[in-house]
Amino acid sequence: MSASIKAVTVLGATGSIGLSTLDVLSRHTDRFRLYAVTANTQVEKMAEICRNYRPEVAVMADTASAEQLKKLLQNEIEVTILGGAEALSEVASAEPVDVVMAAIVGSVGLMPTLSAARAGKRILLANKEALVMAGHLFMSEVEKHGAELLPIDSEHNAIFQCLESNYQRELTTQGLNNEGPESKGVAKILLTGSGGPFREYPLDKFDEITPEQAVAHPNWSMGPKISVDSATMMNKGLELIEACWLFNVSHDDVEIVLHKQSIIHSMVAYNDGSVLAQMGNPDMRTPIANALGWPERISSGVEPLDLIQVSQLNFEKADENRFPCLRLARQAIQRGGTSMAILNAANEVAVQAFLQSQIAFTHIAELIEQTMNNIPHQQTDSLQQILADDQAAREFVNHQLSLMSADC
Ligand code: NDP
Repeated sequence: MSASIKAVTVLGATGSIGLSTLDVLSRHTDRFRLYAVTANTQVEKMAEICRNYRPEVAVMADTASAEQLKKLLQNEIEVTILGGAEALSEVASAEPVDVVMAAIVGSVGLMPTLSAARAGKRILLANKEALVMAGHLFMSEVEKHGAELLPIDSEHNAIFQCLESNYQRELTTQGLNNEGPESKGVAKILLTGSGGPFREYPLDKFDEITPEQAVAHPNWSMGPKISVDSATMMNKGLELIEACWLFNVSHDDVEIVLHKQSIIHSMVAYNDGSVLAQMGNPDMRTPIANALGWPERISSGVEPLDLIQVSQLNFEKADENRFPCLRLARQAIQRGGTSMAILNAANEVAVQAFLQSQIAFTHIAELIEQTMNNIPHQQTDSLQQILADDQAAREFVNHQLSLMSADC
């Protein structure tokens, strides 16, 4: 096998980003081979992936699911099947691996993504929660171990594309030691967001919003958790935090701009008055192909953009009264330390409860705010403290949930 063919691990292969990544990889078998794929419990979907894409290793974080997968695929195809959370880190840091797509949803993605950084891999980061929880630590580990970090979130990938190529190189490897975009004439980052399904929905009906309505995003097809985050606009809040770490900027240097068509994926304003935008159809295969091929451009399978058909691009200000999660995310950045891990953990538990119809849509922000006001944060980037505060926030929200269900 040619030495220039890169071995790839896809963490979260059964998800929306994972499947899009497998699609792009399958278009470039002369450049990439699939080393490992991972999932949690979706055994049938994983079996199908193994049959279609033939990885060397398949990991199910849930050990009972790993046993089921073994039974399903035995005598059918040759694949090493591993079970358990530690195996996620093993395949993220394994010696033959060059590239790791970090696309597990939520804080469980932190440890395998950190392992990939510590093993000096090229990391394609979709799992924004890892950076939100442990941004300082994560960026330091990337720099210390010679890893390369490329953003997958469409907005951050767009910002990356709007920066000059020498600076892109610095950004991927230097963690927080890069000089910052200001030194390259950047005046402001414009982080765009569609505003989700409830941008114009009557505010007095917000407490009646159902999980089905919330996951039906007008422009993007995504997993359930990020779809709800888009509906509350916590996704934009998490992305604001992500942008601060990735591009070494303060939250004041980032303006959130609502752009309902999702054609412009973000912009960079320079001090000579130029504003560069990256555009494309809303399909995650574009940022995935961009990061896989970087610094080269490779095909993604995405339909070419027809601007005549799009015809209009609109912009408006984000309303923090309508979307309190935006305000809470800014507050967490201002507080610093583990407050972002606390915000993230409270959001994960509250979103799960909403998806299970235990709470109303409006309770999500309320629970996060209560958690931030009750769980003290620490000014540290110690992994132990981050995980302890994450746990404390989860316990607090679960306790509130039990009180709420007792009240019903
Ligand atoms: P999905 O819900 O579609 O997929 C999540 C993946 O994570 C699945 O493979 C799932 O496995 C796996 N997973 C879930 N829980 C665990 C666990 N406890 N241990 C190990 N693996 C687990 O999510 P998305 O693809 O939508 O999102 C993935 C990440 O990418 C998120 O962080 C999201 O914010 C980010 N992102 C997503 C975008 C999108 O367009 N979807 C855009 C930008 C960022 P199983 O299927 O077995 O449950």
